[in-house]
Amino acid sequence: MLKIIKHITFSLGLIGLITIGGLAANQSTNFKVTPIAKNVYSIVSPSKGLPTPENKGWNSNVHFVVTGKGVLLFDTGSSEAIGHKIKKAIQSITDQPVRWIINSHSHADHWLGNAAFTDTATEIITSDQAFATMKKHGPGALKFYARITKGTIGSTRLVYPTLQLTQGQKRTFGDVDVELIFAKNGHSPGDILMWLPKQKIIFGGDVLSSDWMPMITGHGNVPNLIKTLQAIAKLNPSIVLTGHGKATTAKSIKRDADLLSSVWKQVKASHKKGKTLDEILSNVSAKLGSKYSVLYQDFVPEIERHVKLMYKLQQ
Ligand SMILES: [Zn+2]
Repeated sequence: MLKIIKHITFSLGLIGLITIGGLAANQSTNFKVTPIAKNVYSIVSPSKGLPTPENKGWNSNVHFVVTGKGVLLFDTGSSEAIGHKIKKAIQSITDQPVRWIINSHSHADHWLGNAAFTDTATEIITSDQAFATMKKHGPGALKFYARITKGTIGSTRLVYPTLQLTQGQKRTFGDVDVELIFAKNGHSPGDILMWLPKQKIIFGGDVLSSDWMPMITGHGNVPNLIKTLQAIAKLNPSIVLTGHGKATTAKSIKRDADLLSSVWKQVKASHKKGKTLDEILSNVSAKLGSKYSVLYQDFVPEIERHVKLMYKLQQ
């Protein structure tokens, strides 16, 4: 049973969230819209852990761009009810309907809100790999979320994306130029980031983080996550919008790339020399702890998970 639970949790990509769950649980259900730049807004969840009865499932951020021809929405939250709250919050800013949705990835807290937008959305866009993962784990995610929120999340119709991309692309939505960038499965299969080249704003989903350690998962690809972070840092975004937690700057991306690449290199080299997991963990913590424990709120619990997962990936 434990194995099954582990598998489900793992498949939903919630490992990273579990370790920080409870640290910042907040009962607020105020879907406040934060202006980010001209025509760009965020709705940031005050809760960064798993969906819980207290947060009624609301644990992830969405962001939107008001174009001349409708709203472009990046992610839709963890449930149909949350999607409706997001919709209402958007309507407090603009009369334009949500016309296009990007689902950054397959984890349920980023797309189950799709159901609230079927009346106006003409396209719901994700990658082919994220789509396949949603199909596989969507029904299980509904049950899992209903259970861990004790039903407070409400019922949700599964509404899947209508357009599956096989590679990154440039597009114009209304009058806004956008680049959809593939993260090469860095956090999970088929993650997509969104880049506004004129405004220099990057929308990261769970590929990018601010106060928290990077969200590596067992079904993501750590070396590709490092490469993606390095590539995004090179774009030198002025604003970085994350899937959980507050907005940040290019500095966080550089910090995450440096941390992940140091840990990965150390784990890889030590594993080759036949060091045990405990030895590696204590060496990595000793070497990186003083620099990074002040840069992340969850360095201590998360570095252990990072080393364990990266060690496992060497085998
Ligand atoms: Zn995720």
